[in-house]
Amino acid sequence: MTEHEVSRNERFDAYLVGKRSNRVFVVDRDRCKGCRICVSVCPYQALEMSREKTQRGYFFPIENGNCTACKQCLYACPDFVLSVHKLEEVTVGGETA
Ligand code: SF4
Ligand code: SF4
Repeated sequence: MTEHEVSRNERFDAYLVGKRSNRVFVVDRDRCKGCRICVSVCPYQALEMSREKTQRGYFFPIENGNCTACKQCLYACPDFVLSVHKLEEVTVGGETA
């Protein structure tokens, strides 16, 4: 896990947005098809593609610490992979992130 990644399980990666934020950026890896649209639309260059692949054989986005939760990638992703939540609302794999 990276420094700002608050939770990871078999399906979801959750990243804390900024240092004092209570928001979490979540990647539903299993839904991703590796198209890279999210990487290209992010105005903050906050996303990079993984080096490992999902069980379905696709690379997926990894948040690098620059996310501002602007949500542009959420609307651009055709597969509803990405989401932003309040920290207290996020439940990943049955555990609060
Ligand atoms: S929410 Fe905004 S800043 Fe964060 S990764 Fe998506 S496009 Fe980039
Ligand atoms: S836009 Fe969606 S499907 Fe495409 S790489 Fe990004 S998260 Fe995956």
